[in-house]
Amino acid sequence: MPQNTLVTGANRGIGLEFTRQLLERGDRVIAACRKPGQAHALGALAGEHPGRLQLVPLDVAEAASHHALLGELPLLLGEDKLDLVIQNAGVLHSGERFGQLTEANLLDSFRTNTSGPLLLTQSLTPWLADGAKIANLSSILGSLADTQAFSTPSYRISKAAQNMATRLLAAALADRGISVIALHPGWVQTDMGGDGASVAVTDSARGLLKVIDAATPKDSGHFFDWQGREVAW
Ligand code: NAP
Repeated sequence: MPQNTLVTGANRGIGLEFTRQLLERGDRVIAACRKPGQAHALGALAGEHPGRLQLVPLDVAEAASHHALLGELPLLLGEDKLDLVIQNAGVLHSGERFGQLTEANLLDSFRTNTSGPLLLTQSLTPWLADGAKIANLSSILGSLADTQAFSTPSYRISKAAQNMATRLLAAALADRGISVIALHPGWVQTDMGGDGASVAVTDSARGLLKVIDAATPKDSGHFFDWQGREVAW
């Protein structure tokens, strides 16, 4: 049966590839991004999959934008519920150095990578099907266990905090059979991953969808990479 999935940050990178692969397998996708009018790749996908892709504006860091999306959901979903939410949107401020860390970068990272997705999931709760799945795109860089160097601190701190949000949401939603998992996509060839990245975006998204599909409530509150290996918090 086709699933209803919401993907955030769907206009480029891993989010666009998630959207492409979900449509290819017959699912219905609500693709959220900051500027749908400029999301030409999503526009092309909508043309290729009539009636199964809906583009909506969403800035995950802005509460007003969450409210606008929630107001649209009755029209977007009708009698349906969301089977899967992929909290994919994220930001990485590169080039941070110890001694030059700014509050602006820390707060922007927290709003985009942590509080935004957490509050959006909370607001979406009435729209989630029992047994639905929430996939939070985290990063190995948010693993406390794996931290050795002072690099990308705003990103790492916000992803570590997002990992805690994953654990808390898993507890909050367990009684409805809703699974919440944190995912590391690999070092992926996107704008964020940069030139040296080792994993093709198609492989990462395919692997992550396999992990999401296989997840059961016993996996809720766990952290997996794109190949299904458990990652240490
Ligand atoms: P990307 O190529 O930089 O794309 C980031 C996406 O997030 C874009 O669609 C961007 O939209 C969106 N976004 C950023 N801030 C937003 C906001 N406030 N509201 C809504 N959308 C926003 O990154 P990616 O490589 O695809 O990464 C996707 C996810 O995987 C992120 O959560 C990232 O942290 C995680 N990840 C990536 C890697 C990697 O190697 N690439 C590794 C580990 C984890 P705009 O076009 O509007 O900016």
